[in-house]
Amino acid sequence: MRVGIIGAGQLGRMIALAGIPLDMAFRFLDPTPNSPAGQFAEQILAPYDDTEGLTQLAKDCDVVTYEFENVPVSAAHLLETQVTLYPPSNALAIAQDRLSEKTLFQEQGMGVPPFRKVDTRQELESAIEAIGLPAVLKTRRMGYDGKGQAVLRTPQDVETAWANLQGVPLILEGFVPFDRELSLIGVRDAQGSTVFYPLVQNTHREGILRLTIAPAPNVSAELQAHAESLMRGLMDTLNYVGVLTIELFEVDGKLLANEMAPRVHNSGHWTIEGAETSQFENHLRAICGLPLGGTAVRGYVAMLNLIGDTPPRKAVLEYPETHLHLYGKSPRPGRKVGHITVLAQNETERNEIVGALLRLIGEDGV
Ligand code: AMP
Repeated sequence: MRVGIIGAGQLGRMIALAGIPLDMAFRFLDPTPNSPAGQFAEQILAPYDDTEGLTQLAKDCDVVTYEFENVPVSAAHLLETQVTLYPPSNALAIAQDRLSEKTLFQEQGMGVPPFRKVDTRQELESAIEAIGLPAVLKTRRMGYDGKGQAVLRTPQDVETAWANLQGVPLILEGFVPFDRELSLIGVRDAQGSTVFYPLVQNTHREGILRLTIAPAPNVSAELQAHAESLMRGLMDTLNYVGVLTIELFEVDGKLLANEMAPRVHNSGHWTIEGAETSQFENHLRAICGLPLGGTAVRGYVAMLNLIGDTPPRKAVLEYPETHLHLYGKSPRPGRKVGHITVLAQNETERNEIVGALLRLIGEDGV
């Protein structure tokens, strides 16, 4: 079986690493030479919307998937005429637009922050009137890792944000005073079977995921079941196949949906060693028509992202509870270059090891 993947970054690399033991072959489409996945798998060097490159990818593959949500929808439509594409292009199109995404969440009965479409200065004023400050002004498209957005607290913030962001479709959201950020990763196959990982707790810094704790502490069985049932409804509506991630805010014990990613997700990297079946393998199982694997957590797990630079391998591996993943990327500020998974027997041990690793990478906290 040959799987085509659009995007040859670290997510594609980890999908391929999960599929090789299942005797799957991989072919990537990515314009960047020496990419994390292209370092060991076949790569078509062409832009993501290159008709010839896409056709070449489709021709030799049984199924095509993608590792990032900004794949041009036109490319997805082209592929769908030639090969099975999972997740389907409707999920991609919705995930690319924060307005369609929040509207769908709302239609599915999911809690969402208040939101309004903003295309003009006039619409910004009426959105602020309706939602109030503080609020967050975001570009509807192409935002990631906190880019393309601004928190508005004062009239001066409104001026600055409008000056910086105007000219593209925007959305204004109420600022959520969340207690914590969580994410839910689910998997659905073409027959409609689903499995879910436990909710995990995510800490961001400067808009970039820094630490994931799995399972998230203090999550009731009811909250987990509620989140799963909402996500199952969403996946059924989209006729979804593959791994889907929803990022959530928890506020006063309630969940509000922030955004979804129709792909494997950074907050699921812990599953490689920390769950019965990794998100990468389960994504492949789903899109290749294989039975979905178990999602139970193995103990108390943490995933620490390595951003900008990597610590010495030897120093990390001194801790027998750690697993180090390096993505084959050169160091650069703000760039995700690897991650460390910690598998501990209890919460205290996990927190101690995470603390020690943070000191090792020169930080005193997340
Ligand atoms: P996003 O690009 O939507 O994932 O936003 C990046 C980060 O900004 C989130 O992980 C939150 O920490 C924060 N954020 C986004 N939207 C809101 C909001 N409506 N209220 C409070 N914080 C937010």
